[in-house]
Amino acid sequence: MRLTSFLPCLTCAGLMLSSAAHAQDRPAAQAPDRWKIIHAGTLLALPGSPARQNASIIVRNDRIHEVRDGFVEAGAMSGTTGSAVTVVDLSKHFVLPGLIDSHVHITDERSPTTQLDRVTKTGEAMALEGTLYARRTLEAGFTTVRDLGSRGNPSLALRDAIRKGQVPGPRIVAAGQSISATGGHSDVNGYAPDIFPELGENICNGADQCRHAARLQVKRGADVIKITATGGVLSNVAAGTGLQMFEDELKAIVDASHALGRRVAAHAHGADGVNAALRAGVDSIEHGTYLDDESIALFKKSGAWLVPTVLAGETVTVMAEQEGFFPPAVRDKARAVGPQMINMLRRAYQGGVKIAFGTDTGVSRHGQNAKEFALMTRAGIPAEVAIRMATVDAADLLGLSGQIGTIEPGKAADVVAVTGNPTEDITELERVAFVMKDGNVHKGPEPLVSAGAATPTP
Ligand SMILES: [Zn+2]
Repeated sequence: MRLTSFLPCLTCAGLMLSSAAHAQDRPAAQAPDRWKIIHAGTLLALPGSPARQNASIIVRNDRIHEVRDGFVEAGAMSGTTGSAVTVVDLSKHFVLPGLIDSHVHITDERSPTTQLDRVTKTGEAMALEGTLYARRTLEAGFTTVRDLGSRGNPSLALRDAIRKGQVPGPRIVAAGQSISATGGHSDVNGYAPDIFPELGENICNGADQCRHAARLQVKRGADVIKITATGGVLSNVAAGTGLQMFEDELKAIVDASHALGRRVAAHAHGADGVNAALRAGVDSIEHGTYLDDESIALFKKSGAWLVPTVLAGETVTVMAEQEGFFPPAVRDKARAVGPQMINMLRRAYQGGVKIAFGTDTGVSRHGQNAKEFALMTRAGIPAEVAIRMATVDAADLLGLSGQIGTIEPGKAADVVAVTGNPTEDITELERVAFVMKDGNVHKGPEPLVSAGAATPTP
């Protein structure tokens, strides 16, 4: 892998360096364009369509400018006078759009001390930890994630810091806090009442309170609303995995959220909760473990997405057998739910449900998101389709089809590459060799070899 910087004008190298140093002080219009040409040996520009051989992706600043056949050389670029043109050699690689994980918890990672962390770890600590997880996620090839619930608002702060370029990480679509009924999956359970008195601002009972809770998350800055329609595995309460919010509460949240331009993602395991949430009009079901024939019919009728998170099921199945990892209430649910998820995915895919890639990472380790792909193929999904679910389809679920999900002119320059062919061995995506997000290279190629001037591109 080789990356060379080419400067059309040697004498302007110094000028360009100093102008880069002062770029912040000057109007953006005067900054020279940054051009990159990626030579892609195999290019899957539009997942769902066939890949092509030997193509060039031309990147202007943070956007895809053009895709051309053959390897375009830097000197052949017209209209770039005064600008640096960098060539990225991925001629031996398989190149595809940046991956999208529709379900993560970017400021948290499950551990045996999670129950204690709740009273010892501050929101500030979670935000700082989140910077580490964000970097790992990005370097694993995931250039966009949807964060479906953090404690307090660290995920919103992290989203904004990444957007401003203050810390490296994936583009984040964030839900803020997950909305739950009292004693439900996203409430704080299993503590002395004087430590955690009622009520968190994400807790609601009755349609009016639930409407307020959704609006409050929008006010705090949430891009999407997350609700927990049923019990969940990791909440420390033996309340099962069935329906926990009533239909009027679900409907109130969906209507209030849609009125404010926000989509609704519903955590649901039990079929009663999956179906009630779909009837209420949610935009996606997260997990969907016990979905039934009625669920499949409701998915198709409403057009809602399923985000299967099989990796979380596999992860909690292993954790449940590690002594002391889970409290007893969690362990029993993990043993019941975990192994079911892959069967659910097989059934949903065969039933024609729209599926978007999502892992619930934070249950599993950040940076290992791509392990979901092998589970998807094990559930009978062809590799090409799994890749489309993590790009084109996930972009659609996030409402970002105009921005991300394919390599096309005008879209964000989010590009990743692997050395093997992931349509033949999907686990290649667990070993991403190159990551570009918004036109900036975050992983490989290693030394930036300059052609003609000592101005490596940062
Ligand atoms: Zn989750």
